Amino acid sequence: MKEYTCSNSNFIKKIIEKDLKKKKYFYLQTRFPPEPNGYLHIGHAKSICLNFGLAEYYKGKCNLRFDDTNPTKENIEYINSIKKDIRWLGFQWNGEILYSSKYFNILNKYAIELIKKGLAYVDQLNKEEIRQYRGTLKEPGINSPYRNQSITENILLFERMKNGHFATGTACLRAKIDMSSPFMIMRDPVLYRIIFSNHHQTKDQWCIYPTYDFSHCISDSLEGITHSICTLEFQDNRRLYDWILDNITITHRPSQYEYSRLNLEYTILSKRKLNILVKKKIVHGWDDPRMPTISGLRRRGYTPSSIRTFCQKIGITKQDNLIETSSLESCIRNELNKTAPRKIAVLNPIKILLSNVPNNYQEIFTVPNHPTDNYMGFRSLPFTNELYIDYFDFHETNKKDYRGLVLGQEIRLRYGYVIKAIKVKKDIENNIINIICTCDFNTLGKNPKNRKIKGVIHWLSTKHALSATFHLYNRLFTIKNPEKEKNFLNYINPKSFLIKKGFVESNIKNKNNDQVYQFEREGYFCIEKNKNNSNLIFNRIIPLKNKKIQD
Ligand code: ATP
Ligand code: MG
Repeated sequence: MKEYTCSNSNFIKKIIEKDLKKKKYFYLQTRFPPEPNGYLHIGHAKSICLNFGLAEYYKGKCNLRFDDTNPTKENIEYINSIKKDIRWLGFQWNGEILYSSKYFNILNKYAIELIKKGLAYVDQLNKEEIRQYRGTLKEPGINSPYRNQSITENILLFERMKNGHFATGTACLRAKIDMSSPFMIMRDPVLYRIIFSNHHQTKDQWCIYPTYDFSHCISDSLEGITHSICTLEFQDNRRLYDWILDNITITHRPSQYEYSRLNLEYTILSKRKLNILVKKKIVHGWDDPRMPTISGLRRRGYTPSSIRTFCQKIGITKQDNLIETSSLESCIRNELNKTAPRKIAVLNPIKILLSNVPNNYQEIFTVPNHPTDNYMGFRSLPFTNELYIDYFDFHETNKKDYRGLVLGQEIRLRYGYVIKAIKVKKDIENNIINIICTCDFNTLGKNPKNRKIKGVIHWLSTKHALSATFHLYNRLFTIKNPEKEKNFLNYINPKSFLIKKGFVESNIKNKNNDQVYQFEREGYFCIEKNKNNSNLIFNRIIPLKNKKIQD
Protein backbone atom coordinates (compact mmCIF):
# COMPACT_ATOMS: atom_id res chain seq x y z
CA MET A 1 0.00 0.00 0.00
CA LYS A 2 1.38 3.37 -1.02
CA GLU A 3 1.72 6.10 1.57
CA TYR A 4 -0.36 9.27 1.12
CA THR A 5 1.79 11.52 -1.00
CA CYS A 6 -0.05 14.59 0.21
CA SER A 7 -0.21 13.96 3.93
CA ASN A 8 1.84 17.06 4.85
CA SER A 9 0.00 20.32 5.27
CA ASN A 10 0.39 23.07 2.69
CA PHE A 11 -1.49 26.21 1.68
CA ILE A 12 -3.39 24.46 -1.13
CA LYS A 13 -4.64 21.76 1.24
CA LYS A 14 -5.88 24.47 3.60
CA ILE A 15 -7.83 26.09 0.76
CA ILE A 16 -9.31 22.77 -0.32
CA GLU A 17 -10.36 21.94 3.22
CA LYS A 18 -12.08 25.31 3.55
CA ASP A 19 -13.80 24.92 0.15
CA LEU A 20 -15.08 21.46 1.01
CA LYS A 21 -16.22 22.53 4.47
CA LYS A 22 -18.05 25.59 3.15
CA LYS A 23 -19.49 23.44 0.37
CA LYS A 24 -18.07 25.70 -2.33
CA TYR A 25 -17.39 22.36 -4.00
CA PHE A 26 -18.77 19.00 -2.96
CA TYR A 27 -15.86 17.03 -4.30
CA LEU A 28 -12.26 17.54 -5.39
CA GLN A 29 -11.38 17.33 -9.06
CA THR A 30 -7.80 18.08 -10.08
CA ARG A 31 -5.86 17.43 -13.25
CA PHE A 32 -2.32 16.96 -14.46
CA PRO A 33 -2.07 18.73 -17.84
CA PRO A 34 1.25 18.02 -19.58
CA GLU A 35 2.02 19.25 -23.03
CA PRO A 36 3.31 16.16 -24.89
CA ASN A 37 6.42 17.95 -26.16
CA GLY A 38 9.01 15.97 -24.23
CA TYR A 39 9.56 13.48 -21.43
CA LEU A 40 8.50 14.28 -17.89
CA HIS A 41 11.13 15.50 -15.44
CA ILE A 42 11.35 15.66 -11.67
CA GLY A 43 9.59 19.05 -11.71
CA HIS A 44 6.57 17.30 -13.20
CA ALA A 45 6.84 14.71 -10.44
CA LYS A 46 6.19 17.55 -7.99
CA SER A 47 3.04 18.47 -9.89
CA ILE A 48 1.97 14.81 -10.25
CA CYS A 49 2.45 14.07 -6.55
CA LEU A 50 0.48 17.21 -5.73
CA ASN A 51 -2.45 16.75 -8.11
CA PHE A 52 -2.82 12.97 -7.90
CA GLY A 53 -1.82 13.02 -4.23
CA LEU A 54 -4.54 15.55 -3.32
CA ALA A 55 -7.15 13.53 -5.22
CA GLU A 56 -6.12 10.38 -3.32
CA TYR A 57 -6.11 12.16 0.01
CA TYR A 58 -9.54 13.79 -0.38
CA LYS A 59 -11.05 10.85 -2.26
CA GLY A 60 -11.49 13.03 -5.31
CA LYS A 61 -10.38 12.51 -8.89
CA CYS A 62 -7.40 13.57 -10.97
CA ASN A 63 -7.60 13.70 -14.75
CA LEU A 64 -4.70 13.22 -17.10
CA ARG A 65 -5.16 15.71 -19.89
CA PHE A 66 -2.70 16.20 -22.68
CA ASP A 67 -2.64 19.90 -23.51
CA ASP A 68 -1.95 19.21 -27.15
CA THR A 69 -2.42 22.52 -28.93
CA ASN A 70 0.91 22.69 -30.73
CA PRO A 71 1.26 19.76 -33.17
CA THR A 72 4.69 20.83 -34.44
CA LYS A 73 6.30 20.03 -31.08
CA GLU A 74 4.28 17.01 -30.00
CA ASN A 75 4.25 13.29 -30.76
CA ILE A 76 3.00 9.86 -29.70
CA GLU A 77 6.37 8.83 -28.25
CA TYR A 78 6.05 11.64 -25.70
CA ILE A 79 2.44 10.69 -24.91
CA ASN A 80 3.41 7.06 -24.27
CA SER A 81 6.38 7.99 -22.12
CA ILE A 82 4.26 10.36 -20.01
CA LYS A 83 1.64 7.65 -19.39
CA LYS A 84 4.35 5.17 -18.41
CA ASP A 85 6.07 7.59 -16.06
CA ILE A 86 2.87 8.55 -14.21
CA ARG A 87 2.01 4.88 -13.64
CA TRP A 88 5.56 4.11 -12.58
CA LEU A 89 5.37 6.88 -9.99
CA GLY A 90 2.42 4.97 -8.58
CA PHE A 91 -0.56 7.01 -9.78
CA GLN A 92 -3.61 6.23 -11.90
CA TRP A 93 -5.66 8.88 -13.66
CA ASN A 94 -9.40 9.11 -13.49
CA GLY A 95 -11.14 7.27 -16.37
CA GLU A 96 -10.01 7.76 -19.94
CA ILE A 97 -7.03 9.84 -20.94
CA LEU A 98 -8.21 13.29 -22.01
CA TYR A 99 -6.87 15.57 -24.72
CA SER A 100 -7.44 19.27 -25.32
CA SER A 101 -7.67 18.32 -28.99
CA LYS A 102 -10.91 16.45 -28.20
CA TYR A 103 -12.40 19.88 -27.45
CA PHE A 104 -11.30 21.55 -30.70
CA ASN A 105 -14.88 21.74 -32.03
CA ILE A 106 -16.21 23.25 -28.80
CA LEU A 107 -13.28 25.64 -28.55
CA ASN A 108 -13.98 26.76 -32.10
CA LYS A 109 -17.60 27.48 -31.17
CA TYR A 110 -16.50 29.54 -28.18
CA ALA A 111 -14.14 31.52 -30.41
CA ILE A 112 -17.06 32.30 -32.71
CA GLU A 113 -19.16 33.30 -29.68
CA LEU A 114 -16.48 35.84 -28.71
CA ILE A 115 -16.35 37.18 -32.29
CA LYS A 116 -20.12 37.52 -32.35
CA LYS A 117 -20.01 39.48 -29.10
CA GLY A 118 -17.45 41.85 -30.64
CA LEU A 119 -14.81 40.47 -28.23
CA ALA A 120 -12.45 38.87 -30.74
CA TYR A 121 -11.09 39.86 -34.13
CA VAL A 122 -8.95 38.46 -36.90
CA ASP A 123 -5.68 40.34 -37.00
CA GLN A 124 -3.50 40.37 -40.11
CA LEU A 125 -0.45 41.97 -38.59
CA ASN A 126 2.53 39.67 -38.70
CA LYS A 127 4.22 38.27 -35.59
CA GLU A 128 6.84 41.00 -35.40
CA GLU A 129 4.25 43.78 -35.87
CA ILE A 130 2.07 42.25 -33.16
CA ARG A 131 5.06 42.30 -30.84
CA GLN A 132 5.81 45.95 -31.63
CA TYR A 133 2.18 47.05 -31.27
CA ARG A 134 1.95 45.33 -27.91
CA GLY A 135 4.11 47.97 -26.22
CA THR A 136 6.21 47.37 -23.14
CA LEU A 137 5.72 47.29 -19.38
CA LYS A 138 6.39 51.04 -19.41
CA GLU A 139 4.46 51.96 -22.55
CA PRO A 140 0.91 51.11 -23.53
CA GLY A 141 0.32 49.17 -26.72
CA ILE A 142 -1.27 50.46 -29.93
CA ASN A 143 -4.47 49.13 -31.40
CA SER A 144 -4.07 47.01 -34.49
CA PRO A 145 -5.58 48.56 -37.65
CA TYR A 146 -7.70 45.38 -37.92
CA ARG A 147 -9.17 45.80 -34.44
CA ASN A 148 -12.31 47.60 -35.55
CA GLN A 149 -13.35 45.31 -38.38
CA SER A 150 -17.05 44.47 -38.33
CA ILE A 151 -18.28 41.31 -36.66
CA THR A 152 -19.42 39.97 -40.04
CA GLU A 153 -16.01 40.53 -41.49
CA ASN A 154 -14.34 38.80 -38.53
CA ILE A 155 -16.62 35.78 -38.83
CA LEU A 156 -15.83 35.52 -42.53
CA LEU A 157 -12.08 35.92 -41.98
CA PHE A 158 -12.03 33.37 -39.15
CA GLU A 159 -13.89 30.92 -41.39
CA ARG A 160 -11.29 31.54 -44.09
CA MET A 161 -8.49 30.95 -41.57
CA LYS A 162 -10.12 27.65 -40.68
CA ASN A 163 -10.44 26.68 -44.33
CA GLY A 164 -6.78 27.23 -45.05
CA HIS A 165 -7.01 30.45 -47.07
CA PHE A 166 -4.30 32.14 -45.07
CA ALA A 167 -0.65 31.17 -44.98
CA THR A 168 1.06 30.49 -41.64
CA GLY A 169 1.66 33.70 -39.71
CA THR A 170 -0.50 35.93 -41.92
CA ALA A 171 -3.59 35.96 -39.68
CA CYS A 172 -4.62 35.09 -36.13
CA LEU A 173 -7.62 35.48 -33.87
CA ARG A 174 -7.12 37.88 -30.97
CA ALA A 175 -9.23 38.72 -27.94
CA LYS A 176 -10.32 42.35 -27.90
CA ILE A 177 -9.48 43.37 -24.34
CA ASP A 178 -7.25 46.36 -23.59
CA MET A 179 -4.05 47.36 -25.36
CA SER A 180 -3.08 49.60 -22.47
CA SER A 181 -3.62 47.09 -19.68
CA PRO A 182 -0.78 47.03 -17.13
CA PHE A 183 -0.93 43.24 -17.56
CA MET A 184 0.76 42.39 -20.87
CA ILE A 185 -1.26 39.18 -21.11
CA MET A 186 -4.44 41.30 -21.41
CA ARG A 187 -3.22 43.30 -24.43
CA ASP A 188 -5.37 41.49 -26.97
CA PRO A 189 -3.83 38.02 -26.55
CA VAL A 190 -3.83 35.61 -29.46
CA LEU A 191 -6.54 32.93 -29.17
CA TYR A 192 -6.01 31.03 -32.43
CA ARG A 193 -3.11 30.72 -34.82
CA ILE A 194 -2.52 29.00 -38.13
CA ILE A 195 -0.38 25.85 -38.11
CA PHE A 196 -0.26 23.58 -41.13
CA SER A 197 0.89 20.43 -39.45
CA ASN A 198 -0.46 16.95 -38.96
CA HIS A 199 -1.73 16.52 -35.41
CA HIS A 200 -1.13 13.21 -33.60
CA GLN A 201 -4.83 13.02 -32.63
CA THR A 202 -6.83 15.08 -35.15
CA LYS A 203 -4.53 14.37 -38.13
CA ASP A 204 -5.18 16.97 -40.89
CA GLN A 205 -8.61 18.07 -39.68
CA TRP A 206 -7.43 21.50 -38.53
CA CYS A 207 -5.02 24.14 -39.71
CA ILE A 208 -5.93 26.56 -36.92
CA TYR A 209 -5.09 25.73 -33.34
CA PRO A 210 -6.19 27.38 -30.08
CA THR A 211 -3.41 28.83 -27.95
CA TYR A 212 -2.56 27.17 -24.67
CA ASP A 213 -4.25 29.98 -22.71
CA PHE A 214 -7.52 29.83 -24.63
CA SER A 215 -7.76 26.06 -24.49
CA HIS A 216 -6.48 25.53 -20.96
CA CYS A 217 -9.10 27.45 -18.99
CA ILE A 218 -11.98 26.14 -21.11
CA SER A 219 -10.70 22.53 -20.86
CA ASP A 220 -10.50 22.89 -17.07
CA SER A 221 -14.03 24.21 -16.98
CA LEU A 222 -15.44 21.53 -19.31
CA GLU A 223 -13.90 18.82 -17.13
CA GLY A 224 -15.37 20.24 -13.93
CA ILE A 225 -11.94 20.87 -12.42
CA THR A 226 -12.47 22.37 -8.98
CA HIS A 227 -8.88 23.29 -8.13
CA SER A 228 -6.73 24.12 -11.11
CA ILE A 229 -3.22 24.05 -9.70
CA CYS A 230 -0.33 25.47 -11.67
CA THR A 231 3.06 27.10 -11.26
CA LEU A 232 3.62 30.76 -10.40
CA GLU A 233 4.34 31.99 -13.91
CA PHE A 234 0.65 31.56 -14.69
CA GLN A 235 -0.43 34.03 -12.01
CA ASP A 236 -1.14 36.84 -14.48
CA ASN A 237 -2.76 34.45 -16.94
CA ARG A 238 -5.50 33.90 -14.36
CA ARG A 239 -6.91 37.32 -15.38
CA LEU A 240 -7.19 36.18 -18.96
CA TYR A 241 -8.78 32.86 -17.92
CA ASP A 242 -11.35 34.77 -15.90
CA TRP A 243 -12.03 37.11 -18.82
CA ILE A 244 -12.53 34.21 -21.23
CA LEU A 245 -14.80 32.24 -18.91
CA ASP A 246 -16.78 35.39 -18.04
CA ASN A 247 -17.46 36.07 -21.70
CA ILE A 248 -18.51 32.68 -23.03
CA THR A 249 -21.52 30.54 -22.20
CA ILE A 250 -20.02 28.08 -19.76
CA THR A 251 -21.20 27.25 -16.26
CA HIS A 252 -18.45 25.63 -14.23
CA ARG A 253 -15.76 27.87 -12.80
CA PRO A 254 -12.51 26.28 -11.56
CA SER A 255 -10.40 28.11 -8.96
CA GLN A 256 -6.76 28.51 -9.90
CA TYR A 257 -3.94 28.38 -7.36
CA GLU A 258 -0.27 28.84 -8.09
CA TYR A 259 2.78 27.36 -6.36
CA SER A 260 6.49 27.72 -7.03
CA ARG A 261 8.03 25.36 -9.53
CA LEU A 262 10.81 23.00 -8.58
CA ASN A 263 14.32 24.10 -9.48
CA LEU A 264 17.11 21.68 -8.70
CA GLU A 265 20.82 22.43 -8.42
CA TYR A 266 23.21 21.45 -11.24
CA THR A 267 20.46 20.55 -13.68
CA ILE A 268 17.76 22.06 -15.85
CA LEU A 269 14.04 21.39 -15.63
CA SER A 270 12.55 22.44 -18.91
CA LYS A 271 11.47 20.03 -21.61
CA ARG A 272 12.57 22.44 -24.29
CA LYS A 273 16.11 22.66 -22.94
CA LEU A 274 16.32 18.95 -22.15
CA ASN A 275 15.31 18.33 -25.75
CA ILE A 276 18.35 20.35 -26.86
CA LEU A 277 20.62 18.04 -24.82
CA VAL A 278 19.03 15.03 -26.54
CA LYS A 279 19.10 16.52 -30.05
CA LYS A 280 22.71 17.66 -29.74
CA LYS A 281 23.60 14.21 -28.39
CA ILE A 282 25.12 15.71 -25.26
CA VAL A 283 23.29 12.91 -23.43
CA HIS A 284 22.32 9.50 -24.77
CA GLY A 285 18.57 10.07 -25.04
CA TRP A 286 15.80 11.25 -22.72
CA ASP A 287 16.39 8.31 -20.35
CA ASP A 288 20.11 8.88 -20.00
CA PRO A 289 20.78 8.27 -16.28
CA ARG A 290 22.21 11.79 -15.97
CA MET A 291 18.94 13.39 -17.07
CA PRO A 292 16.54 14.77 -14.44
CA THR A 293 13.74 13.04 -16.34
CA ILE A 294 11.59 10.42 -14.63
CA SER A 295 12.84 7.86 -17.16
CA GLY A 296 16.46 8.89 -16.55
CA LEU A 297 16.04 8.60 -12.79
CA ARG A 298 14.37 5.20 -13.24
CA ARG A 299 17.27 3.90 -15.32
CA ARG A 300 19.70 5.40 -12.86
CA GLY A 301 18.10 3.26 -10.15
CA TYR A 302 15.87 5.72 -8.32
CA THR A 303 12.68 4.15 -6.96
CA PRO A 304 9.18 5.65 -7.27
CA SER A 305 8.94 5.87 -3.48
CA SER A 306 12.20 7.82 -3.21
CA ILE A 307 10.86 10.39 -5.69
CA ARG A 308 7.53 10.61 -3.86
CA THR A 309 9.39 11.08 -0.57
CA PHE A 310 11.40 13.87 -2.15
CA CYS A 311 8.26 15.63 -3.38
CA GLN A 312 6.79 15.37 0.13
CA LYS A 313 9.93 16.73 1.67
CA ILE A 314 10.27 19.84 -0.51
CA GLY A 315 6.66 20.82 0.15
CA ILE A 316 4.41 23.24 -1.70
CA THR A 317 4.92 26.98 -1.25
CA LYS A 318 4.91 30.20 -3.22
CA GLN A 319 8.60 30.92 -2.60
CA ASP A 320 10.97 30.55 -5.51
CA ASN A 321 13.93 28.42 -4.56
CA LEU A 322 16.72 26.20 -5.77
CA ILE A 323 16.62 22.81 -4.09
CA GLU A 324 19.95 21.22 -3.15
CA THR A 325 20.87 18.05 -5.02
CA SER A 326 21.65 16.48 -1.67
CA SER A 327 17.98 16.73 -0.77
CA LEU A 328 17.02 14.36 -3.60
CA GLU A 329 20.06 12.18 -3.02
CA SER A 330 19.35 11.66 0.65
CA CYS A 331 15.87 10.32 -0.20
CA ILE A 332 17.24 7.49 -2.33
CA ARG A 333 20.21 6.90 -0.03
CA ASN A 334 18.08 6.54 3.09
CA GLU A 335 15.81 4.09 1.32
CA LEU A 336 18.59 1.98 -0.19
CA ASN A 337 20.54 1.92 3.04
CA LYS A 338 17.69 -0.16 4.42
CA THR A 339 16.93 -2.30 1.39
CA ALA A 340 20.20 -2.87 -0.49
CA PRO A 341 22.28 -5.97 0.26
CA ARG A 342 25.99 -5.25 0.63
CA LYS A 343 28.56 -6.55 -1.84
CA ILE A 344 32.13 -5.83 -2.67
CA ALA A 345 33.21 -4.30 -5.96
CA VAL A 346 36.64 -3.01 -6.90
CA LEU A 347 36.27 -0.18 -9.40
CA ASN A 348 39.95 0.69 -9.91
CA PRO A 349 41.66 -2.66 -9.48
CA ILE A 350 45.26 -3.07 -8.50
CA LYS A 351 46.77 -6.42 -7.52
CA ILE A 352 48.10 -7.43 -4.14
CA LEU A 353 50.33 -10.50 -3.76
CA LEU A 354 50.45 -11.94 -0.26
CA SER A 355 53.96 -13.34 -0.06
CA ASN A 356 53.38 -15.49 3.03
CA VAL A 357 50.14 -17.07 1.76
CA PRO A 358 50.58 -20.30 -0.24
CA ASN A 359 49.60 -20.34 -3.90
CA ASN A 360 46.75 -22.79 -3.53
CA TYR A 361 45.49 -21.38 -0.22
CA GLN A 362 41.76 -20.73 0.04
CA GLU A 363 39.69 -19.68 3.02
CA ILE A 364 36.01 -18.78 2.99
CA PHE A 365 34.76 -15.94 5.15
CA THR A 366 31.05 -15.90 5.94
CA VAL A 367 29.97 -12.30 5.90
CA PRO A 368 26.62 -10.54 6.51
CA ASN A 369 24.59 -9.15 3.61
CA HIS A 370 23.50 -6.21 5.74
CA PRO A 371 25.14 -4.66 8.79
CA THR A 372 21.94 -4.46 10.86
CA ASP A 373 19.24 -6.47 9.07
CA ASN A 374 19.93 -10.12 9.96
CA TYR A 375 17.05 -11.31 7.80
CA MET A 376 19.19 -10.53 4.76
CA GLY A 377 21.43 -13.45 5.65
CA PHE A 378 25.04 -14.19 4.87
CA ARG A 379 27.29 -14.91 1.92
CA SER A 380 30.69 -16.46 1.31
CA LEU A 381 33.73 -14.42 0.47
CA PRO A 382 36.77 -16.43 -0.68
CA PHE A 383 40.23 -15.32 0.41
CA THR A 384 43.40 -16.34 -1.49
CA ASN A 385 46.99 -15.18 -1.93
CA GLU A 386 46.14 -12.77 -4.75
CA LEU A 387 43.71 -9.91 -4.20
CA TYR A 388 42.36 -6.86 -5.96
CA ILE A 389 42.12 -3.68 -3.96
CA ASP A 390 41.21 -0.21 -5.16
CA TYR A 391 43.99 1.90 -6.60
CA PHE A 392 42.93 4.84 -4.43
CA ASP A 393 43.31 2.71 -1.30
CA PHE A 394 47.08 2.53 -1.74
CA HIS A 395 49.75 5.18 -1.53
CA GLU A 396 53.49 4.70 -1.53
CA THR A 397 54.12 7.45 0.99
CA ASN A 398 51.90 8.65 3.77
CA LYS A 399 49.59 11.64 3.26
CA LYS A 400 47.80 13.71 5.86
CA ASP A 401 44.50 12.13 6.93
CA TYR A 402 45.04 9.22 4.56
CA ARG A 403 43.34 6.09 5.79
CA GLY A 404 44.39 3.67 3.08
CA LEU A 405 47.33 1.30 2.77
CA VAL A 406 50.80 2.86 2.80
CA LEU A 407 54.10 1.18 2.02
CA GLY A 408 55.60 -0.21 5.23
CA GLN A 409 52.29 0.08 7.09
CA GLU A 410 49.35 -2.13 7.97
CA ILE A 411 45.67 -2.07 7.06
CA ARG A 412 42.73 -4.36 7.73
CA LEU A 413 41.03 -6.19 4.92
CA ARG A 414 37.26 -5.85 5.35
CA TYR A 415 35.97 -9.02 7.10
CA GLY A 416 39.51 -10.40 7.00
CA TYR A 417 43.09 -10.17 8.16
CA VAL A 418 45.49 -7.33 8.74
CA ILE A 419 48.07 -7.05 5.97
CA LYS A 420 51.28 -5.03 5.64
CA ALA A 421 52.61 -3.50 2.41
CA ILE A 422 56.24 -4.51 1.87
CA LYS A 423 57.13 -3.30 -1.61
CA VAL A 424 55.71 -2.38 -5.01
CA LYS A 425 56.53 -3.81 -8.39
CA LYS A 426 56.50 -1.30 -11.23
CA ASP A 427 56.77 -1.40 -15.01
CA ILE A 428 59.29 0.64 -16.99
CA GLU A 429 56.91 3.61 -17.06
CA ASN A 430 56.80 3.59 -13.28
CA ASN A 431 53.19 2.29 -13.11
CA ILE A 432 52.51 -0.02 -10.23
CA ILE A 433 51.88 -3.59 -11.42
CA ASN A 434 51.33 -5.07 -8.01
CA ILE A 435 51.92 -4.58 -4.32
CA ILE A 436 53.68 -7.24 -2.30
CA CYS A 437 52.20 -7.62 1.18
CA THR A 438 52.31 -10.00 4.09
CA CYS A 439 49.28 -11.27 5.94
CA ASP A 440 49.03 -11.54 9.74
CA PHE A 441 46.98 -14.70 10.30
CA ASN A 442 46.64 -13.84 13.95
CA THR A 443 44.29 -10.92 13.37
CA LEU A 444 40.95 -12.36 12.23
CA GLY A 445 38.24 -10.67 14.26
CA LYS A 446 40.77 -9.21 16.67
CA ASN A 447 43.27 -6.39 16.68
CA PRO A 448 46.99 -7.07 16.99
CA LYS A 449 48.44 -6.11 20.35
CA ASN A 450 50.25 -2.76 20.62
CA ARG A 451 49.62 -1.82 16.99
CA LYS A 452 46.99 0.61 15.84
CA ILE A 453 45.37 -0.22 12.50
CA LYS A 454 44.15 3.00 10.98
CA GLY A 455 41.74 1.75 8.34
CA VAL A 456 39.75 -0.96 6.61
CA ILE A 457 39.81 -1.51 2.87
CA HIS A 458 37.69 -3.72 0.62
CA TRP A 459 39.16 -6.43 -1.57
CA LEU A 460 38.34 -9.41 -3.79
CA SER A 461 40.19 -12.62 -4.52
CA THR A 462 41.51 -12.32 -8.09
CA LYS A 463 40.80 -16.01 -8.73
CA HIS A 464 37.11 -15.58 -7.90
CA ALA A 465 36.21 -12.03 -8.87
CA LEU A 466 33.89 -11.46 -11.79
CA SER A 467 34.81 -8.74 -14.24
CA ALA A 468 32.29 -5.93 -14.53
CA THR A 469 31.87 -2.47 -16.00
CA PHE A 470 30.78 0.44 -13.88
CA HIS A 471 29.01 3.50 -15.21
CA LEU A 472 29.63 6.41 -12.91
CA TYR A 473 27.35 9.42 -13.18
CA ASN A 474 28.07 12.82 -11.78
CA ARG A 475 26.21 16.10 -12.00
CA LEU A 476 25.40 17.14 -15.55
CA PHE A 477 26.37 20.79 -15.15
CA THR A 478 29.33 22.46 -13.48
CA ILE A 479 27.32 25.36 -12.05
CA LYS A 480 24.50 25.36 -9.52
CA ASN A 481 21.92 27.15 -11.60
CA PRO A 482 22.46 26.53 -15.33
CA GLU A 483 18.80 27.39 -15.94
CA LYS A 484 19.67 31.04 -15.42
CA GLU A 485 22.38 31.03 -18.09
CA LYS A 486 21.55 31.92 -21.66
CA ASN A 487 24.30 29.64 -22.93
CA PHE A 488 23.65 26.81 -20.53
CA LEU A 489 25.45 24.41 -22.88
CA ASN A 490 28.74 26.07 -21.92
CA TYR A 491 28.46 24.56 -18.47
CA ILE A 492 28.17 20.86 -19.23
CA ASN A 493 30.31 18.79 -16.87
CA PRO A 494 32.84 16.88 -19.02
CA LYS A 495 33.10 14.27 -16.26
CA SER A 496 29.38 13.64 -15.92
CA PHE A 497 29.77 10.09 -17.28
CA LEU A 498 32.75 7.83 -16.61
CA ILE A 499 33.29 4.18 -17.41
CA LYS A 500 35.35 1.95 -15.14
CA LYS A 501 36.39 -1.64 -15.66
CA GLY A 502 36.76 -3.62 -12.48
CA PHE A 503 35.46 -6.60 -10.53
CA VAL A 504 32.57 -7.73 -8.36
CA GLU A 505 31.88 -10.69 -6.12
CA SER A 506 31.15 -13.75 -8.22
CA ASN A 507 27.75 -14.31 -6.61
CA ILE A 508 26.24 -11.45 -8.67
CA LYS A 509 25.79 -13.37 -11.89
CA ASN A 510 22.26 -12.80 -13.01
CA LYS A 511 22.23 -9.90 -15.44
CA ASN A 512 18.47 -9.59 -15.38
CA ASN A 513 17.92 -8.99 -11.73
CA ASP A 514 16.39 -5.77 -10.44
CA GLN A 515 18.40 -5.87 -7.26
CA VAL A 516 20.14 -2.74 -6.12
CA TYR A 517 23.41 -3.32 -4.24
CA GLN A 518 25.50 -1.29 -1.94
CA PHE A 519 29.09 -1.80 -3.00
CA GLU A 520 30.84 -1.29 0.29
CA ARG A 521 32.76 1.97 0.64
CA GLU A 522 31.55 3.02 -2.83
CA GLY A 523 27.82 3.54 -3.18
CA TYR A 524 24.59 2.12 -4.52
CA PHE A 525 24.50 0.44 -7.92
CA CYS A 526 21.90 -1.25 -10.11
CA ILE A 527 22.32 -3.44 -13.18
CA GLU A 528 22.09 -1.62 -16.51
CA LYS A 529 19.64 -3.58 -18.63
CA ASN A 530 19.23 -1.39 -21.70
CA LYS A 531 22.53 -2.46 -23.15
CA ASN A 532 22.92 -5.69 -25.09
CA ASN A 533 26.24 -6.38 -23.54
CA SER A 534 27.56 -9.77 -22.50
CA ASN A 535 29.49 -8.09 -19.71
CA LEU A 536 27.86 -7.08 -16.44
CA ILE A 537 27.28 -3.33 -16.33
CA PHE A 538 26.40 -1.46 -13.17
CA ASN A 539 24.97 2.05 -13.01
CA ARG A 540 26.01 4.03 -10.01
CA ILE A 541 22.84 5.41 -8.52
CA ILE A 542 24.56 7.44 -5.87
CA PRO A 543 27.88 7.33 -4.00
CA LEU A 544 27.90 6.79 -0.23
CA LYS A 545 27.33 9.96 1.72
CA ASN A 546 30.84 10.58 2.91
CA LYS A 547 32.64 9.19 -0.07
CA LYS A 548 35.22 11.49 -1.54
CA ILE A 549 34.64 11.40 -5.29
CA GLN A 550 37.91 10.41 -6.92
CA ASP A 551 36.49 9.36 -10.27
P1 ATP B 1 8.50 22.52 -19.35
O1 ATP B 1 9.02 23.92 -19.36
O2 ATP B 1 9.43 21.54 -18.76
O3 ATP B 1 7.95 22.08 -20.65
P2 ATP B 1 5.87 23.08 -18.63
O4 ATP B 1 5.38 23.82 -17.42
O5 ATP B 1 5.77 23.73 -19.93
O6 ATP B 1 7.32 22.60 -18.31
P3 ATP B 1 3.82 21.17 -18.91
O7 ATP B 1 3.89 19.96 -19.73
O8 ATP B 1 2.93 22.25 -19.33
O9 ATP B 1 5.28 21.65 -18.74
O10 ATP B 1 3.58 20.80 -17.39
C1 ATP B 1 2.55 20.05 -16.85
C2 ATP B 1 2.38 20.47 -15.42
O11 ATP B 1 3.59 20.30 -14.71
C3 ATP B 1 2.00 21.93 -15.32
O12 ATP B 1 0.93 22.05 -14.43
C4 ATP B 1 3.24 22.59 -14.83
O13 ATP B 1 2.94 23.72 -14.07
C5 ATP B 1 3.90 21.49 -14.01
N1 ATP B 1 5.35 21.66 -13.96
C6 ATP B 1 6.20 21.73 -14.99
N2 ATP B 1 7.46 21.96 -14.58
C7 ATP B 1 7.41 22.02 -13.23
C8 ATP B 1 8.38 22.25 -12.19
N3 ATP B 1 9.66 22.45 -12.48
N4 ATP B 1 7.95 22.24 -10.93
C9 ATP B 1 6.67 22.03 -10.62
N5 ATP B 1 5.70 21.82 -11.53
C10 ATP B 1 6.06 21.82 -12.82
MG1 MG C 1 5.41 24.07 -21.73
